[in-house]
Amino acid sequence: MRDIKELSLKELEVKLLSWGKPGYHARQVLSWIYGKGAYEFAKMSDLPVTLRDLLTDEFYILGLRLEDLQRSSDGTDKFLFELKDGNLIEAVGIPAARRVTGCISSQAGCKFACSFCASGLKGFKRNLTCGEMLDEVLYLKHNLEKGQLTHIVFMGTGEPLDNYDNLLKAVRVINSPEAFNIGSRKITISTCGIVPGIRRLQGESLQVELSISLHAADDSLRSRIMPINRKYPLSDLIRCCREYSEKTNRQVTFEYILVKGLNSDLASAKKLSGLLSSLRLAKVNLIPANPVNGSTEKMLPPSEQEVSAFKEYLFKTGVNVTLRKERGQDIQAACGQLRLKHEKN
Ligand code: SF4
Repeated sequence: MRDIKELSLKELEVKLLSWGKPGYHARQVLSWIYGKGAYEFAKMSDLPVTLRDLLTDEFYILGLRLEDLQRSSDGTDKFLFELKDGNLIEAVGIPAARRVTGCISSQAGCKFACSFCASGLKGFKRNLTCGEMLDEVLYLKHNLEKGQLTHIVFMGTGEPLDNYDNLLKAVRVINSPEAFNIGSRKITISTCGIVPGIRRLQGESLQVELSISLHAADDSLRSRIMPINRKYPLSDLIRCCREYSEKTNRQVTFEYILVKGLNSDLASAKKLSGLLSSLRLAKVNLIPANPVNGSTEKMLPPSEQEVSAFKEYLFKTGVNVTLRKERGQDIQAACGQLRLKHEKN
């Protein structure tokens, strides 16, 4: 059995023609899957029964099963899914004032071992297929408690640029009018700083948002909390981001988790401001820490005064800065925490 979501509209048309069926049914099939959320071909009532049977014999629609769901008092929904091979992945739906964002995993586990992240604690299992990433989007689209899915961020478990080809295939389907029809500017790819992946991305004709997990503005601290920095140090990463924004004319967002006693003092703010000074189109997103069970760093948030002073310093030195409110704190919504809890059990 194959995942039908791995086929483009054109490929599905060719398949139907090979069965002696009209190609136009392909659009109907995709509309049932992506528009109406049908998980069974038998429910596609405007297709001939013979075609529904052929599809059922060769393809499946949804390749995951809901293992757990936690709903936060702030409207955040966290889903834990079991894949066909037993691996567990997470996806989160985050409602805000005028948007609902789906946070999607791109790998089962992660090989990059950032010290503040629960996803890396159990190591890497495998890349997700394009169809499995689309499964997450599909499930969220039809099962959120509040609102309609409007934005997608690849910021769940795994490093999206380490699964480049499947990621790009999924992004194009999410963007496609025949599928989810979510504008490319509403799709964010978040990376720990895979320089060759960013370079490759800048050559695609895509208007997606790029977000970098930065979290430290000097190499010694960043290498300690994000081992990828030993391979792609800050000078390479920032140069690559500058080239990316110059070539695409797109802003790059830098995520910066503020951890008490680690990277939240004014000296760190000064380093951060200096590091980004050569970037014309950059934004810093500050995120006060969310404690992670089992992580190697003590992840306590700084005081509100320290957060304000940090933000104020960046603002005064000309950095475009926002403060992100942590969502779903009552349901272990930080990346990898729910999966970790189930894998320990
Ligand atoms: S932050 Fe991203 S790259 Fe780092 S361990 Fe977590 S999932 Fe992997």
